[in-house]
Amino acid sequence: MLNKADKIFPEKYKLYSRKNIDQILRLKNLPRELLVAIKTVSAVLPFRVNNYIIDELIDWNNIPQDPLYQLTFPQPEMLDKQDFKQMNELLMKKTSEKDILTAARKIQMSMNPHPAGQMDMNVPEENGKNINGMQHKYHETVLFFPTQGQTCHAYCTYCFRWAQFIGLESIKFASSDIYALVNYLQKHPEVTDVLFTGGDPLFMRTKILRRYIEPLIKERPGNLRSIRIGTKVPAYWPYRFLTDNDADDLMRLFEQVVASGLHLSIMSHFSHYREIETTVAQAAIKRILSTGAVVRCQAPLVRHVNDDHAIWAKMWQTQVKIGAIPYYMFVERDTGPKNYFEIPLERTYRIFTKAYKKVSGLCRTVRGPSMSATPGKIMIDGITEIGGEKLFALKFIQGRNPNWTNQIFFARFDKEASWLDDLEPAFGEEDFFFNQ
Ligand SMILES: *Cc1c(COP(=O)(O)O)cnc(C)c1O
Ligand code: SF4
Repeated sequence: MLNKADKIFPEKYKLYSRKNIDQILRLKNLPRELLVAIKTVSAVLPFRVNNYIIDELIDWNNIPQDPLYQLTFPQPEMLDKQDFKQMNELLMKKTSEKDILTAARKIQMSMNPHPAGQMDMNVPEENGKNINGMQHKYHETVLFFPTQGQTCHAYCTYCFRWAQFIGLESIKFASSDIYALVNYLQKHPEVTDVLFTGGDPLFMRTKILRRYIEPLIKERPGNLRSIRIGTKVPAYWPYRFLTDNDADDLMRLFEQVVASGLHLSIMSHFSHYREIETTVAQAAIKRILSTGAVVRCQAPLVRHVNDDHAIWAKMWQTQVKIGAIPYYMFVERDTGPKNYFEIPLERTYRIFTKAYKKVSGLCRTVRGPSMSATPGKIMIDGITEIGGEKLFALKFIQGRNPNWTNQIFFARFDKEASWLDDLEPAFGEEDFFFNQ
């Protein structure tokens, strides 16, 4: 166990955003063009990093290619050329923040801020009214978005939840009413899992997180069996589990959940093996596991960050070595700067398969590559040929209609396709079965 005497802990926590970005660039002696590009893109897309990422994760000798730099710093190509130029000119002219925001809003709205029908199709209703801050898409699992957890220690440039961070209250998911969830669970016996998500719920101080979790332990509503917490804190601020003032209290809260008989799974987002190689990240995982919680790992496959089978193989192996369980590889979603990150499904499948072949069965708990699309979670299960036609074999991991689960179906092979919407049904059929 690490303790405060180990000098690897930074003296204090420091956040950087668009406002104080000049400091990092001075600190790391970076060229001015980078600064201009970062300022321009971050007027549209959310940007934030902390001193742990700056000092421990990014390799500043390999800028801009470094995957962890790509993961957290906005790149000029993330905006459409025209949009970049317009925004850049506005900033140069020292336009007012208000006018910059107006221009930014227009660009943001053109970038599909809420993909896969999450705004219109996943929000549960009661007496004809939407219940805020929740999504219920698959029978067994309800997502809950605690208000104070709708931010992160750093913003991943590819984040599909980016719309949560741009100050647009009208399209934001958030609730501080945990009893609305308790109520909902009591009325929905099919739900066994609650997934706290965000943003990042572990951004919250323990005292606040406790207010959300304790009612679930005490009331044990409906058929609740498992609590999951989706988080990137083990990657972005592992001190949260070790030396933050309320780290011990957080561990006690985890222990309480486990002692109550509920399963607790920390769904950790790791994009690159380097995030789990630091001493402090490994100590954090170890400490989480010591509470009886389980750590499961997931991330999307993203160009510039982790589009290499060797990265995934090494990442899964490192996870298993420290006691964490590989869970999902996602296909990057069709939102935000998708053009910058996307990889054709064919290449995605090849990367997954090459990595999967290289690791032992203990790593093969990972599922994917999976698209979280409107009809469900759909994995690319193979590329094959039937009757002379080249095809993608696809399979529902989860279906909006539970009967679709584990169903396979075929699409015509398409070298360029990068999302479900790009695919056509195989065998000359009019439409996929789930659209009929
Ligand atoms: C992935 C996902 C879940 C959880 O699915 P599991 O297969 O149980 O991990 C729940 N809700 C939504 C909306 C999801 O995208
Ligand atoms: S930590 Fe998760 S929610 Fe936060 S920016 Fe990254 S991907 Fe998005």
